[in-house]
Amino acid sequence: MAVIISNISSPLDAPESTVVSAALKKAGIREKNVIRAGVYKTSLDARKRDNIHRVSSVWAELPEDMEKAVCAKHKDCAKVENHSFEPVFGDKKQQGRIAVIGFGPAGMFAALTLAEYGYNPVVFERGSDVDSRTAAVEGFWKGGEFSGQSNVQFGEGGAGTFSDGKLTTRIHDPLCRRVLEIFAEMGAPEEILTKAKPHIGTDKLRETVKNIRRRIIGLGGEVRFDSLVTDIKLRDGKIVSVTADNEEIPVCAAIAAVGHSARDTFSMLLDKGIIIEPKPFSCGARIEHTRQSVNESLYGEHAGDPMLPEGEYQLSYRKGNRAVYTFCMCPGGYVVPSQSEEKTIVTNGMSEFARDGDNSNSALVVSVSPEDFGNKPLDGVSFAADIERRAYAATGSYCAPASTVGAFLDGTASLSGASVTPSYSLGVVPVKLDDIFPSFITGMMREGLGVFSRKMRCFGDRGAVLTAPETRTSSPVRITRGEDLCALGIEGLYPCGEGAGYAGGIMSAAVDGIRCALEIMKIYKA
Ligand SMILES: Cc1cc2nc3c(=O)[nH]c(=O)nc-3n(C[C@H](O)[C@H](O)[C@H](O)COP(=O)(O)OP(=O)(O)OC[C@H]3O[C@@H](n4cnc5c(N)ncnc54)[C@H](O)[C@@H]3O)c2cc1C
Repeated sequence: MAVIISNISSPLDAPESTVVSAALKKAGIREKNVIRAGVYKTSLDARKRDNIHRVSSVWAELPEDMEKAVCAKHKDCAKVENHSFEPVFGDKKQQGRIAVIGFGPAGMFAALTLAEYGYNPVVFERGSDVDSRTAAVEGFWKGGEFSGQSNVQFGEGGAGTFSDGKLTTRIHDPLCRRVLEIFAEMGAPEEILTKAKPHIGTDKLRETVKNIRRRIIGLGGEVRFDSLVTDIKLRDGKIVSVTADNEEIPVCAAIAAVGHSARDTFSMLLDKGIIIEPKPFSCGARIEHTRQSVNESLYGEHAGDPMLPEGEYQLSYRKGNRAVYTFCMCPGGYVVPSQSEEKTIVTNGMSEFARDGDNSNSALVVSVSPEDFGNKPLDGVSFAADIERRAYAATGSYCAPASTVGAFLDGTASLSGASVTPSYSLGVVPVKLDDIFPSFITGMMREGLGVFSRKMRCFGDRGAVLTAPETRTSSPVRITRGEDLCALGIEGLYPCGEGAGYAGGIMSAAVDGIRCALEIMKIYKA
């Protein structure tokens, strides 16, 4: 085992060996007693402009008795928790296949876990493989045809494939380490294992996703693309089959990892009597600044220092039951067309691993709940869809509604005086955002901008640009499940990941996928 020594401050350019020596010195450990050691996690502390530095934790493998002594003596020393992965296997014979519906992070990690232990899962993904999907998406972004089946939300890798691939999460699940290790093993940059705020970047994520697919198939799993699950069959409170491509496939279990945009699938499940609840989510717009103005707002005169990562921010403000906050920030990234339905507009953000685009953007969003949109299961879905359709109607095309912050604050529609060139590839049109969103959203966005401009100078820039609408921040539904992770009252159906309302982001979706796979393995033998 090993110990973790935390809170090791070091200059930005300090080599790993210096950080490790400082940690050992702090913990009173002599180098000759160390079996192995290295940096475990490192982050940037830029709170004081005149003292921007790194804060790291270091792991060190020591003789067992010494580990206990060191941890007893130092508060910043702790034993590394044992995250060993020991699945429990059932002995029930599989009557039918184990199906995984959706090949986003949740579906990918569920299928990989099942395949690794010999369960030969069959994966159904409505969108295409990542190469064909990329061609369809980039074709659309260049003004070509929109595909309802292969787009930013649907296809191999799921919603996160065209993203910054940020792997940050608020869940403290021991399986997070396993997810990072698998991503690294499958081709993601090694640094994701040691960075406090790791990201893969869309360019490297596509290769990583392919490698996961190849591993699943290599282990006896099956992955079907352009394969939409249109129906499920239930008998005596148990799932017995799924239907895709007009073929009914008998199953003993099915993981429904369909993501937050599978509106048709939500309707199908509801019609089958699956319990679905409306769930709070958030709506707003992407705010875009030049990358330099964000870096200057965060680092002051140090902006541009090659030792400093591209500036990242996270801002929030709450008033009563409602919050406005920035979300999914993409340093050196792009605002991307992210719809999954014809004649709608949806924005989201993406960066390449290098994060070297001219602009930086984030979603500036306001929390909404059933109190705002209704208590029927799919009321949140309709609320978001209405905004997306209004946005399309406002421009009459796939150009996105946009406005400078100044015009937005004044309640008008204009892009003149913009200090940034909008990166939305299909073009933007000046639109009064109050014509797209209900006032409780635009009102809170205005308040948020006021508060944030006092925290970061670039948020006071009236020339910054808002591109709208951002509606797919998380799932507008929760598919209710029990402790066994099965849909309430339906044996063998596992609502999973973000779409089902049990995850928010790549990491937590992947972890939820593994958890659902482990539940199935507890029942069946391979
Ligand atoms: C542009 C963008 C950028 C993002 N950036 C980040 C980021 O940097 N970091 C982060 O943590 N999160 C990010 N996210 C969010 C993240 O992508 C999601 O939280 C995550 O992908 C959820 O994983 P999931 O597997 O639950 O669902 P999804 O990834 O949505 O995958 C669901 C899959 O199911 C398929 N499917 C749906 N219905 C059916 C059906 N009936 N039959 C067969 N297949 C079906 C879909 O085609 C899809 O591929 C981003 C999202 C977007 C859109």
